[in-house]
Amino acid sequence: MSMTATQTNPVVNRPLEGRVAIVTGSTSGIGLGIAQSLAEQGARLVLNGFGDPDEVEQTREMLAALHGVEVLYSPADLSMPEKIGEMVAFARDVLGPIDILVNNAGIQHVAPVGEFPTAKWDAIIAVNLSSAFHAIKAVLPEMVERRFGRIVNIASAHGLIASPFKSAYVAAKHGVVGLTKTVALEAARQGVTCNAICPGYVWTPLVEKQIAEQAQAHGISTERVITDVLLTSQPNRRFASVEEIGALTAFLCGDNGASITGAALAVDGGWTAQ
Ligand code: NAD
Repeated sequence: MSMTATQTNPVVNRPLEGRVAIVTGSTSGIGLGIAQSLAEQGARLVLNGFGDPDEVEQTREMLAALHGVEVLYSPADLSMPEKIGEMVAFARDVLGPIDILVNNAGIQHVAPVGEFPTAKWDAIIAVNLSSAFHAIKAVLPEMVERRFGRIVNIASAHGLIASPFKSAYVAAKHGVVGLTKTVALEAARQGVTCNAICPGYVWTPLVEKQIAEQAQAHGISTERVITDVLLTSQPNRRFASVEEIGALTAFLCGDNGASITGAALAVDGGWTAQ
């Protein structure tokens, strides 16, 4: 029986074999797509995020069984810095030192600045920006000491450009891009990379919720929100998939991503090229 190179070489098939990863906000959407991609390539990982406990457990078991890797779950609320420390300690205690950190958890609220609820501003800054800082602070010294680390921050096209009514989100995502560059520079000579992925619209529960809200606000159908409101910004007129974001993240986490650091990688169908 003849075998192809990819069948015989486990390093080609599973380039992240043995790596330990934390993916925040991975009970849903993009985070779950990233967790899938990392597990498929052999990483052992910690899922995090909110959700129905039975559904989360099913997801955890499915990922572990499908890819033959250890998968844990931390329910840490990332708006609370001490919970982030506990999540990282849990991952390290059970799986070992952290090789890969993906800061993905995020929330959104849309309102004019003058009417923007202060509590929503605080929550968005805490979850979308400060949680990335706290998680990076918890893993970076060990990555530097071990001379290997991959940090991927899921920012947004809104980390590069603004839209009205999304003040907190745009501020947080621009902050994530700035944090990414700073960490990349600090760790550049120690084998640690730090990059931001800046998606345009990706089809996830977060976007589905926005579509429903905008349809109600504008009194138009959800189809018209998709074509006339959301995808008008994206020259390629399509949503990216969570698999596409997962595949890029996995690439950045592998050995071939070693020279990519401090980048803000647009995955937005040309939105920010305009
Ligand atoms: P989603 O709502 O499907 O998933 C968000 C995840 O974050 C969930 O697992 C949720 O439980 C978790 N989460 C929320 N608050 C949390 C908290 N306090 N503590 C722990 N976990 C928490 O959203 P998504 O569309 O998959 O978005 C994921 C990331 O991608 C976000 O940072 C978002 O800003 C970014 N993003 C999304 C799009 C898009 O079009 N979907 C585009 C650009 C950027």
